Amino acid sequence: MDLFEYQARDLFEAHGVPVLKGIVVNTAEAAEQAAETIASPVVVVKAQVKVGGRGKAGGVKLAKTPAEAKEHADAILGMDIKGHTVAKVMIAQGATIAEEYYFSILLDRANRCHLAMCSKEGGVDIETLAKERPEALAKVPLDASVGIDEAKAKEILTQAGFETAEQEKLIPVLVKLWEVYAKEDATLVEVNPLVKIATGDIIALDGKVSLDDNSIFRHPEHAELKDLTAEDPLESKAKAAGLNYVRLNGEVGIIGNGAGLVMSTLDVVAYAGEKYGVRPANFLDIGGGASAEIMAKGLDIILGDEQVKSCLVNVFGGITACDQVAKGVIGALELLGENATKPIVVRLDGNKVAEGRQILVEANHPLVTMVETMDGAAAKAAELAAGA
Ligand code: GDP
Ligand code: MN
Repeated sequence: MDLFEYQARDLFEAHGVPVLKGIVVNTAEAAEQAAETIASPVVVVKAQVKVGGRGKAGGVKLAKTPAEAKEHADAILGMDIKGHTVAKVMIAQGATIAEEYYFSILLDRANRCHLAMCSKEGGVDIETLAKERPEALAKVPLDASVGIDEAKAKEILTQAGFETAEQEKLIPVLVKLWEVYAKEDATLVEVNPLVKIATGDIIALDGKVSLDDNSIFRHPEHAELKDLTAEDPLESKAKAAGLNYVRLNGEVGIIGNGAGLVMSTLDVVAYAGEKYGVRPANFLDIGGGASAEIMAKGLDIILGDEQVKSCLVNVFGGITACDQVAKGVIGALELLGENATKPIVVRLDGNKVAEGRQILVEANHPLVTMVETMDGAAAKAAELAAGA
């Protein structure tokens, strides 16, 4: 789960990372009041969207008076930033920036470790810096059992080229940011910019935090951070139906039983789809029992996705035998009635495969195509999705 900047700010504050005052609001009037409450010579009106580069897109504006903060908030609220509509702005105390640095901790899956990244050149687009001047970005792997203690912080800062005097101020901030990362079960804590202000103090001016959803059982308080308005309606529907569903950006809907089979189905569909430029539209594991009801719920969710052009049902009969699955598919189509309009490719194998196939043959449903092999079924589903 990615957090909004204001939520990251609050987590930072709770762990003792230095931040400036910030109040989140959703109207221009409330923005004016917030600016009055903060009462600093300059406030910053900041769009709250879960996407980077807000500044460049016009979503970060300085204001010298509460009236000006109101004007900026009025302009920023409702603005579209890279496809995200701004519903909230944070009114933040303004800082007199002397220098902008970059610091982040993230889960480096490829190298199976946590990684700290640090640069004296922050504020800018870090991807560009990493590409054009990689030597300006220090990358230091972290031992998960140690994380960032003072010695590690010093090592990171030295690699990034900070002088000893600057290091003294930065060390405690880096240690605290590791505390946020570890204690909150984050997979990303990024501060860009981490600034030195006129007084020489260090402040986290912008924060990006991603929390590990798998850790929710030990952080009941994280549930409140979820942005319900942004949740994918199909994912919510699947969750309510107890289905394991992940939406992707493709055209071929996929239903299978068991995560392993669904994942390999994604692979063969991606491969078969290359020819037509189509891709898997989702991951949906109906688990062990493929009753008509569960199949109907699964098909309903997949067929309800506008992007989906065809659906592939790939089931290996085990305890739930193929005849039950076939009955499930036909029963689901009856339940859905006119709502079912997209072609469905079914591939069955395993326990009672002959009986299952017989049921599909007899039903002779106009939307259903049966294919015996997994590769053949994937190719057919891709072809149908492409309208070929
Ligand atoms: P981003 O564009 O989404 O990364 O938004 P940031 O919060 O990082 O803000 C972008 C830039 O706006 C920063 O790099 C700063 O240069 C500037 N900025 C943000 N807050 C302040 C502030 O309080 N004072 C000043 N002078 N500049 C700020
Ligand atoms: Mn930033």
